[in-house]
Formats: sequence, C-alpha cells, structure tokens
Amino acid sequence: MRGLLIEDAEVAGARVSLRIQDGRILALGPGLVAQAGEERLSAEGGAVLPGIHDHHIHLLALAASFASVECGPPAIHDKAALGDALASAGRHPARDGNPPGWVRGIGYHESVAGPLDRHRLDALAAGFPVRIQHRSGALWILNSAALTALELETSGPLPDGVERGADGRLTGRMYRVDAWLRERLGGTVPPRLNAVGQNLARLGVTGVCDATPGNGAVELAHFSAAAASGDLPQRLRVMGGLALPEPEQPRIERGPLKIMLDENALPPEAELVALIDRAHAQQRGVAFHCVTRAELVVAAAGLEAAGASTRDRIEHASLAPPEIVALLARLGVTVVTQPNFLLERGDRYRREVHPRDQPWLYRGRGFIEAGVPLGGGTDAPFGRCDPWAAMRAAVHRRSAEGAPLQLHESLAPETALALFTSELACPGQPRGPLAPGQPADLVLLDRPWAAARQRLDPADVRATFIAGDRAWDRG
Ligand SMILES: [Zn+2]
Repeated sequence: MRGLLIEDAEVAGARVSLRIQDGRILALGPGLVAQAGEERLSAEGGAVLPGIHDHHIHLLALAASFASVECGPPAIHDKAALGDALASAGRHPARDGNPPGWVRGIGYHESVAGPLDRHRLDALAAGFPVRIQHRSGALWILNSAALTALELETSGPLPDGVERGADGRLTGRMYRVDAWLRERLGGTVPPRLNAVGQNLARLGVTGVCDATPGNGAVELAHFSAAAASGDLPQRLRVMGGLALPEPEQPRIERGPLKIMLDENALPPEAELVALIDRAHAQQRGVAFHCVTRAELVVAAAGLEAAGASTRDRIEHASLAPPEIVALLARLGVTVVTQPNFLLERGDRYRREVHPRDQPWLYRGRGFIEAGVPLGGGTDAPFGRCDPWAAMRAAVHRRSAEGAPLQLHESLAPETALALFTSELACPGQPRGPLAPGQPADLVLLDRPWAAARQRLDPADVRATFIAGDRAWDRG
C-alpha cells in the first residue's frame, strides 16, 4: 500500500510530520523525509487531531430523517406551519424507508400544536397516511388514514404501547413499539447509510456508537453491509438487545446492552439486576437511558446492587444531583452526555424544569470534578448531528435565546474536545497523545489548534482519515 506523509502538521503543539502506512501511524516526529513513491500532503501548520467519536447516535433514524419532514422547532413552531409542511410532503412523499404514499415526520414537540393524537393530526393532514415521531423518540403518532392503511382498527390484539382512549378506540399514539410498527409497515427496507457516512466524515467523525435499543441481527446485517460497501466508512460500536449477535465485520464491535428506563413504569430492582448480570455474562456493559432524576436513581441503585464498572454507562444523565454523581463516581460508571441539548432545548428547560433541578441539568465540570468518566454524543437525529456544535455548547452553555445555563459547569475547549475523542469502547477515559502504532483515524484542520479552539467549527476540517483512507477531503 502506498504510504502517505503529512508534513508541517501541528500535533499537541509541536510541528511534526506523520507517516501513515497500512492504516496506521507508522512514524511521527520532526524531520521525517519523504520516501520514494510516498504521497506527500502539506498540513501548512494545521492541527492534526485524533478522529472524532460520536458516542451516542442513531444511524438508521438519522438516515431516515433525511427522508422525513421536520415537525418541531427550530424548523416548525406552530400548527399552521406544521400543516403546510405535511401537505407539501403529501404531494411528493419521500421514498427512502417509507411505504409508497406515506409521509414520515420527525422531531414533534407539544409546543407546536399541543399533545397530538389521530384527530388533531387529521385536522392537519387527512388525505394520506402520516406517521410522526415525537422528539423524545419514544412515541409515534399516526393519523386515521395511517391506522386504516395498516388495518389496526380491525386487527386482533395489539402490543401494550398502542394507546386506546376511554371509548376503546385507538388514539393514534404508540409508545416504544418501533420494531412492531416497522413490521406492520411492511418491513420497510432500512435506509441506505451513504449520506450519513459522508456527512459524518465531513465533520471529522471517524467512529460512532449506535445507541438504538432495538438493534438486533437485522440492523447489524445492514450496518455490516454498509461497512463492507464503503457507505459507512466510520468504525462502529453497536448497542442493542441481548439477542444482538457478535459482529463479524472488523470495523464493527458489539457494545453495551441498552436499557430504556421510563419514570412512569420503572422495573423492580431484581429485574434490573438480572438484566445487568445477563449483559455482563455476555462480556458486555449496560447502558441506561436516564433523563429524569428518578430514572437515574433507579439505574444507579441497580448498578450498585449488580456490581458495575466503567464499561457500564448512563446515557444522557440529564438531571444529576450531587449525591447520585458521587455514587456513579464510586461505582466507576461512565456518563455519556449531550451538551448540544443545552443549546437546542435550553429555553424549554428553563421554562419547564423545576427550579430545584435546574442546577443539575446536563452537567459538565460537575461530573469531571467528581471523577465520573464523561463522554459526549449528539443523539442525532434527536439532537443536531454536529459534534462541534456540541463541543461549543459544552464550552459556552447558552440556550438558543442566549440564556446562560449553569456557567460554572462550562468546559475548556480541550476538555470539550476530549468528550468526543476518547476510544469508542471507553468514552470518558483519557486518551494518550497520537503516537506510532495507533490506527490512522485522524482529522486535519486548516489552522493550528490555538485558532481552532476559539471556534470549534466543523468548517475548519480540511480532511478526515479513517484507517489511513481519506474518508473526506475538502479539496
Ligand atoms: Zn439516543
């Protein structure tokens, strides 16, 4: 394989060259001389960073979002705008991942048109089947045309998450029944991942962790095919259920068992401990979805009872009061946070989260000072797919309207970057400097770090290398 010499690069403050061969950094230091046949690239003083890792993302939902209608802020703010967007999509329904004629909406929030059910949705879009996903990812709302198309009114027993009103009729609201719904929709082929892979590469992302709870053999096969074809050049860690097989693709590894907690239906501790034990027996950690105080308390108690380690994770930890943070630190459990929500949802948090809980929202420094390993993920498509925006939010902690959110929790740009450069297998663990022998998963910026740290802007990414291959080049 023809090698590459990146010259005049800045690595950890020093001017060096990097020799890349067979997917790895072969040498790194000043005064490397180009060899015969070696490709040369001048970094012109730009920084070379370890590749960005998005430790919490949902690839298939992100790909599907490219063929979906935005139904919530910041794109849509009121009922009229939502009606217009749905009507326009109804005239030209997107094909990818949708049955013919169906419209798929995403990102709905009650601030647009209140709690949505089939009737309210019918008033906005009635002539064609529509399904809209709530921004939480936990709820789908179907209009009457969709319920009819799926023959749900007349079919036999339906899963628990399919809500019925007092009159026994379907409300159109369906909680956490994604896999079942997909099957009813005719087992729609999962969307291609090429656009997602390219977008991530442009942002300097060289690896991601897919945090979708329903991941199983079907999803893994789709990911593996995308990795083999080059649609998805990034390294991938896959969370999922207990039935998730061990991947065979060398760039894919099996991640933790994802456990969704819902504060309205918290499981008994014995049940959680049994689940954690089963995951550990598979040599996997667990990853608890925790967005409320109660969910975090239950997850921490379960982990304490079962015995935990850094491979066990809390996703979001949106509300983390000090006593629980101390317990997480004692257990050695990792937290994977989404600082971008401070920007994207901060104004709503300020209005809706109880003042008592406001100090504990999406903490940064509080976790680090307590000794909790802290990694970062965007939660795209439920958050914006831009780790740099998330890093900026971790530094500035301002809502979209500009309100400060617990500024003492701010991170330095270097710490914010570190949230997104720790190894996929251990988010939050400090990562050593770039060195020979490491995989050549690198981001080349068009300026030195001293300038880039002021901006944390993906526009500064000049090229992205994954295992030495140029996954993206601004050209
Ligand atoms: Zn998520």
